Amino acid sequence: MRITSFKGGVHPPDNKKSTASLPIVDARLPERVVIPMSMHIGAPAKPIVGVGDAVRKGQKIGEAQGAVSVPVHASISGKVIAVGSFPSPMGADAQAVVIESDGADEWADGLAGHDDYLSLNPDVLRNIIKEAGIVGMGGATFPSHVKLSPPKEKKIKYAILNGAECEPYLTADARLMEENPGDIIEGLKIIMAILRVTDGFVGVEDNKKAAIKAMSAEAGKVACELVVETYYERDGIQYEVPKGCKMGVKVVPLPVKYPQGSEKQLIKAVTGLEVPPGHLPMDVGAVVQNVATAAAIYQAVRFGRPLVERVLTVTGPGINEPRNLRVRIGTLFEDIISQCGGINKKAAKVVMGGPMMGIAQWSLGVPVVKGTSGIVALSEREAVNVMDFGPCIRCGRCIEVCPMGLNPSVLGQLIEKGHFEEAKDYGLLDCFECGSCSFVCPSGRPMVQFTKWAKRELARKKQKAS
Ligand code: SF4
Ligand code: SF4
Repeated sequence: MRITSFKGGVHPPDNKKSTASLPIVDARLPERVVIPMSMHIGAPAKPIVGVGDAVRKGQKIGEAQGAVSVPVHASISGKVIAVGSFPSPMGADAQAVVIESDGADEWADGLAGHDDYLSLNPDVLRNIIKEAGIVGMGGATFPSHVKLSPPKEKKIKYAILNGAECEPYLTADARLMEENPGDIIEGLKIIMAILRVTDGFVGVEDNKKAAIKAMSAEAGKVACELVVETYYERDGIQYEVPKGCKMGVKVVPLPVKYPQGSEKQLIKAVTGLEVPPGHLPMDVGAVVQNVATAAAIYQAVRFGRPLVERVLTVTGPGINEPRNLRVRIGTLFEDIISQCGGINKKAAKVVMGGPMMGIAQWSLGVPVVKGTSGIVALSEREAVNVMDFGPCIRCGRCIEVCPMGLNPSVLGQLIEKGHFEEAKDYGLLDCFECGSCSFVCPSGRPMVQFTKWAKRELARKKQKAS
């Protein structure tokens, strides 16, 4: 297969050595979890439990509100001790349910799975995924059932899993691919069955050799398995794998370049297709999901388990004992960091996610959410001070590296002057905040913060007008 890379991009030091070879370990069962109702793009869930209620792991505690929303589940068994507004790692405070553990860690009753999952109707599968509260776990947190429901006129040809993990420091996805390739590939098969797609791909950066090997071995089993399973009978009922659903999965090693894992760049590398500005992956017949999301989909469909935990990397020069941990949703950052030997003097800034696209944290009393791929404590040298930047000297470096072909120099200057509408004409909405421009800018201009601010202001204006 011809691998086409994208224009632009940068090569930040990958800094993955300290956790790349560390197996995933289960974090301690938290004594208390704070579970926000908004851990996804779209309408927040609405709490359906009150103070004093006993809950079990996997029990629904928040109901989805509207089409772009997902329910939220208890990640431990215990008692609800508060429902209210709490700090969230996504920025502003958010409504959350606080649960105190009873130490039993018991699953809720009635969480049934399906062993014949590839034969289920796509609508049934989408509903299972929605009810399990599954969202994009690479950090985007878009509800997965919505992404898996393209309009009928959009013919989907490619289901692509993102295993690039191009953000420096993070190794959670790579470890998951090495240790649980079966769950990921089964999740991809479910995605392919929903979309009626025969070609599945997993894009993995070429420097993750062990992950590529493990995933390739698992992917190699897919075609033969489905050929023999085309028809089968159970309990007197004949099941049929739908026509055109003879699947094949390829693991595609990708060039090592940031931001190789962003959707449009991944699609280009895997299929050679360009998603035009202002368009979505489905416009070129592609749907992309993260590898951890695929594993969560498998757990939900096969075993009936909602999304109550995730794997993340706790690392950076400011963390004493970096680790890859499987953590319950709602566990506080401070709890997790204390399980990693605590924070040290080198820590100047803690971000949720990687250093390029991560969100800076003001407090460690915030909970792990569904999109928390990492907790990284950066050193003074690595931590960009967004208040300390100079004027644009028109060196053009940012233009060379922007993977979207934008002019970040002009965008930044327009936004600085409050010309948000004009910035839109210069592709503001196509900027996916990868931070490549800021990475190379000699004046340290905080382009990501500029674009976030401009997008927020435009959204506010739109809301006011409606
Ligand atoms: S890299 Fe920075 S200084 Fe150079 S043109 Fe871009 S914004 Fe201006
Ligand atoms: S303008 Fe946006 S998309 Fe382009 S490099 Fe900067 S952050 Fe990335």
